[in-house]
Amino acid sequence: MKKNGKKLKIVLFTGYACNNNCAFCIDEDKRGLPQKSTAELLAGIMRAGSKGADILEIIGGEATIRPDFSRVVAAAKKLGIAEVACATNGRVFADMAAAKRIVASGIDSLIFSVHGPGARVHDALTRVPGSFAQLVKGLKNLKALGFEKISGNTTVVKQNLAALPELARFYAASGVRNVEYIFVDPNYGGAKRNFSALVPRISKAAPFMRRALAFGRRAGMDQWKARYVPLCHFRDCLDQISETNERTLFLTEHWAPDFINTDAIGSRAAVGRRKTARCRGCLLYDQCEGIWVEYLKNYGDSELKPVKKPAAAARIRPC
Ligand code: SF4
Repeated sequence: MKKNGKKLKIVLFTGYACNNNCAFCIDEDKRGLPQKSTAELLAGIMRAGSKGADILEIIGGEATIRPDFSRVVAAAKKLGIAEVACATNGRVFADMAAAKRIVASGIDSLIFSVHGPGARVHDALTRVPGSFAQLVKGLKNLKALGFEKISGNTTVVKQNLAALPELARFYAASGVRNVEYIFVDPNYGGAKRNFSALVPRISKAAPFMRRALAFGRRAGMDQWKARYVPLCHFRDCLDQISETNERTLFLTEHWAPDFINTDAIGSRAAVGRRKTARCRGCLLYDQCEGIWVEYLKNYGDSELKPVKKPAAAARIRPC
C-alpha cells in the first residue's frame, strides 16, 4: 500500500497496434506510432518495480499479439509485482497454445473487452468478422486451463445500447463477476471523428446501463460497475460507479510510447470531463466528474439534473 493508503497502479502501454479495428477506439489516430521494443518494456517494468507498483496493467492497442508478451509478464512477476493484468480483445486466447503460454507466464488477471452479446453487434463494432467467436473460444480455453480471474468491459455506444441487457446475461452465464459498462469517450479517436454515429445521449444510455447493473445485482454480481457517467443519471446505484471509488483506492500512472501521465485519474477529472453551471447546488457535485468535454460541445448540458435531495446523495459509499 502506498501514500494515503492508495495502491500504485502503473498502466504500461506496449504501443497502439491492434488486430481489431474498433469503430470507437480512442487510439484510432495513433496506430502508426512505433511499438515499444522489448528492451523498453522490460526497462519500464524495472522502473515500475522500483517505484513499488502494486498493480501493473499491460495494454495496447492489443498487447497479447506481441511475440514477447509472455516474457514481459513473466519479468514483472519475477520482480514481485503483486498483480499483473492485461486488457485484451481476447482473440489470441482462441489458440490454446497461446492461452497456455500466457497463463504459464504468471499473469494474474485478464480484462476481456466485449461489445455485444453476439457476433452481430460485437463484430460490427470491432469491424473484424469472427472476432466474437474467437473471444468466446478464448474464454472457454482459459476456463479449461483453470484460469478464473477474468473481468469484462464494454464500451457503450449507440450500436450496443439495446443489447446491454442481453450482454449482461452473457457475462453472468460466463461467470464474469467484475464488469465495467464504460460510457464511450468522445474526446479522441474514432468516437470524436464519428460522434453523431456512435455517441448516445446519456439520457438514452443510462436506463440500459442501469438495467444491466440491476441484472448483475440480482445475479449476485456485486462488482459490476458503470464508468465515465454523470452521477445524476445513476441515483439508484451510486455505489456502482467506478470513478467515485477509484479516487480513494488507486494512484494511477499511464506510461505510453507518446506520453507519461503521473495522475491519470486526476487529469481526466480536471481536463477530460466537465460540470457546468447547471450543476450548481447539486449535492453530488464533489463526487461527480460531470460528462466528457466533447459531449458537451455536441449535445450541450440540458440532460444534467442536479440532485437536491440528501437521501440520493447519501447513497455513495465505497464498494
Ligand atoms: S448535475 Fe452535474 S454535478 Fe450533479 S450529478 Fe449531474 S453532472 Fe454531476
